[in-house]
Amino acid sequence: MQLPEIPDDCVDELMNVLCRDPYHAQGLPIAGDTMLTRPIEGEQQTEGWVMGARRPCALDGCGGVRIYVRWPGGQITQPCSQGITQIAQGVWQIE
Ligand SMILES: [Zn+2]
Repeated sequence: MQLPEIPDDCVDELMNVLCRDPYHAQGLPIAGDTMLTRPIEGEQQTEGWVMGARRPCALDGCGGVRIYVRWPGGQITQPCSQGITQIAQGVWQIE
C-alpha cells in the first residue's frame, strides 16, 4: 500500500487536528500506520491507512480512543483502541 509522506506538523485536512501528538507516546496508532481488518480464515485482510485523527470513545466506561482509518475506496471507520492489537511496528489489527 503506497502511503503519502506525512510531515511532522501535518494537519489532517478532514478533521483539522494534528496528526502527530502525545498519543504516539501512549502506544496508539499514529498517522501513516497500517490498520488491518479482523483476520478471517481463508480471507485476505484489507489494509487501511491510519489518518491521525482521533476522539475519545463514547462507550460508557471504555476509556479508549477512536482511531480514524481510511480504507481502499475511501470509506472511513473509527475502530476503538481497546479493540485493536499491534502486530508489528506501525501495523495494527482489529480484533
Ligand atoms: Zn471504546
